[in-house]
Amino acid sequence: MSELAHRRILLKLSGEALMGSEDYGIDPAMINRIAGEVMEARQAGAEVALVIGGGNIFRGAGLAAGGMDRVTGDQMGMLATVINALAMQDALEKLGGKVRVMSAIKINDVCEDYIRRRAVRHLEKGRIAIFAAGTGNPFFTTDSAAALRAIEINADLLLKATKVDGVYDKDPKKFSDAVRFEELDHNEVIARDLQVMDTAAFALCRDHGIPLRVYDMSVPGNLMAILRGEPIGTLVRARR
Ligand code: UDP
Repeated sequence: MSELAHRRILLKLSGEALMGSEDYGIDPAMINRIAGEVMEARQAGAEVALVIGGGNIFRGAGLAAGGMDRVTGDQMGMLATVINALAMQDALEKLGGKVRVMSAIKINDVCEDYIRRRAVRHLEKGRIAIFAAGTGNPFFTTDSAAALRAIEINADLLLKATKVDGVYDKDPKKFSDAVRFEELDHNEVIARDLQVMDTAAFALCRDHGIPLRVYDMSVPGNLMAILRGEPIGTLVRARR
């Protein structure tokens, strides 16, 4: 086994990442492909935790815009993340992975509760931990959950998988001269008002010095390349 640049990672996937070519829900081909990459990372020796969003099913803000009570909408959004986590657990298990879904909302008949020490133990034993139901609180996002859990489990890298190959100085879809950053520090992201994560999530990363890499998950092999230490996407970290 070759030396990995990262020992313990937390990978944040949006719910939309699971949609693939569909416009709602989960595309089996897509979830299987992502599961394959996660398994490859695990088999290479990385300890892998996942946080998956719920935007492919429900988002609280969208439901509230349609007239629903916001807290109820957010609870539905959090339950949507549990659905995605169960689907990912299944896809990983089909590939031979040992997986535990741990939920921030008690839902014991379908998965474990999130308990930090138990989560760390799962990772130490080589199990893939999927942290579901976000932070368990309305008015937060799964980006905040990813930052929070990454800090709690002492991950050495938080990975945000997106459809863009990093952080740009302006929207690369609108501006052909947009420039991608290879590396930024947290304060530069704030000063330049770059959209990396929502403010609460990003503040957690900054205050606790957790490095964050934003990368394009639609390119197969990127996750392993990052684990080998290749400079894929954009790294946001405290400058020494
Ligand atoms: N959510 C929440 N608290 C959390 C995490 C998520 O209330 O700690 C709800 C919120 O309604 C959110 C939805 O769950 O819109 C799905 O999560 P998110 O929007 O972060 O998913 P993604 O955009 O990553 O697919």
